[in-house]
Amino acid sequence: MPASLLFRLTITGRRKITLAATLFFLLLTTALWSQSSPAQPQTPSSPQQPATSQQPQSPQQPGDSQTQVPGSGAAVQDQQGSDASQSSDQAQDQPEPEGHITKQQAKDLFRSVDEILGFVSGDTGLPIEHKVKRNLITRAMVEKYVDKRMKDDKDEKRVEQAALVLQKFGLLPANYDLHAEFLKLMAEQVAAYYDPKTKSVNLLDWLPPDAQKPVLAHELTHALQDQQVPLDKWELAGAKDDAALPDQQEYFVEEAQSARQCVTEGQAQVVWFDYMLAPQKKDILTAPEFVEAVRAAMGDSKDSPVFSEAPVFLKESLLMPYTFGLDFVRTVLANKGKEAAFAGLLKDPPVDTRQIMQPETYLLHQVVPQLTIPDLDKMAGPAYTRFDFGGMGEFDIYLLAKQYGVKDPPNYFRHWRGGYYYAAQAKSGPKDQIAMLYFSRWDSPQAARDFANMYADYTPKRYKDKVQWTSTCPAASNGSGAATCSFAASTKQGRILIEQNDSDLLIMEGYDDAVVANARGVLFFGMSPPSSTKDKNSK
Ligand SMILES: [Zn+2]
Repeated sequence: MPASLLFRLTITGRRKITLAATLFFLLLTTALWSQSSPAQPQTPSSPQQPATSQQPQSPQQPGDSQTQVPGSGAAVQDQQGSDASQSSDQAQDQPEPEGHITKQQAKDLFRSVDEILGFVSGDTGLPIEHKVKRNLITRAMVEKYVDKRMKDDKDEKRVEQAALVLQKFGLLPANYDLHAEFLKLMAEQVAAYYDPKTKSVNLLDWLPPDAQKPVLAHELTHALQDQQVPLDKWELAGAKDDAALPDQQEYFVEEAQSARQCVTEGQAQVVWFDYMLAPQKKDILTAPEFVEAVRAAMGDSKDSPVFSEAPVFLKESLLMPYTFGLDFVRTVLANKGKEAAFAGLLKDPPVDTRQIMQPETYLLHQVVPQLTIPDLDKMAGPAYTRFDFGGMGEFDIYLLAKQYGVKDPPNYFRHWRGGYYYAAQAKSGPKDQIAMLYFSRWDSPQAARDFANMYADYTPKRYKDKVQWTSTCPAASNGSGAATCSFAASTKQGRILIEQNDSDLLIMEGYDDAVVANARGVLFFGMSPPSSTKDKNSK
């Protein structure tokens, strides 16, 4: 769940205002816009060329601007529209950053949609099946929407629940108001966006047209994706809405959804780079230094104070489609060409975050077999009530490794071979406390042991308390980890057991001894969960 929670929030949000689609862009484009300086017309520039000599002296010429990647020394010439000469007549009309664009600018912006759509179609090979509708929206409309979401109780309740799980994993500080912080982020990160529900692109009336054009290249990629597959449905990967699915299906669907979001955003990112580089007759494959420069500047913007201050979990989850997603699509493009990287990925999408983070596994059709999820409610028995279930995919291991501060996250996440958690509340226990079962599979006993050590090391930080481990781990005799190992400790929230059995790892926190015994039997030794007369077996 960790990463998929954000996906759920963004996909429900997308119907009105997308966060995901816009997040990255505001990080970039507001910074780019505020720092963009007028280029000497016809001065050739290259991505490597430092643009420090160019100081803003005059109003920017729409359609002929040079943008810089802050702090990177990289600069790139904006796309020169066919109507550039026309629109440059409007340069005097340049509004204040937070004003409204003029009627003429709005017209220019509306017209640029078709021109950029043509670019996107050529770049992706995705056909233009029909015209894309366009709307101009105001800051007030966006604020009204964010405000409404603030008050959405259903949304808030779901997020509160997720926050408790994330806190248990140490991914959010205690008492962190995830709902409020998330909405603050949304308000900070608004940019032009495509709305698959109305099949229209929404343009912002307070940002100058040139600041919106590269964003349009990204958003119009979504429009063409949407004309190939209905994006709303496709990104849900078989789920109908936000409602919980049976565990086995949920396990598959969460990962597939995250992977698909990486495809749609990764493709749109590739097009964004190609659009930025087109005036120099370069593209994402021929200008790797530009890609790296933008990368380095991402998420490091003084224009995004809320984002900068956000916990690692939020930042990494939000950036993932634009970082790992971009690298994934770029790798497919480099290896298999345009058809495979655009239409092909929509037809044959990656199935999990492992395929995204390790694109070679997608190219080689390597799929990690799904774990079989036992009846977890039965296993926990009548003294507990189900709180939450979720998959723990390869990207979630990356998140944990980042949060737990290890130097080499790939040494952990690349060994992932499956995992899920089951959170429950003791019927007799406090309502703000959950018990956690986290089962994971690794590619070797040593990898399971490494993860166990990382997890154990961070435990005192999660509980803000000293943790005295009792360990029964035979030293490795041959350099590889022994087949079994366990750590146990007591905390204010009950007992913790971390037990490795071959390449499997079981972590139990806060469950009573009977549940721990059940879980070991079922998960390590293939026993059936005990049947209980009181068991409602509710999902
Ligand atoms: Zn997007």
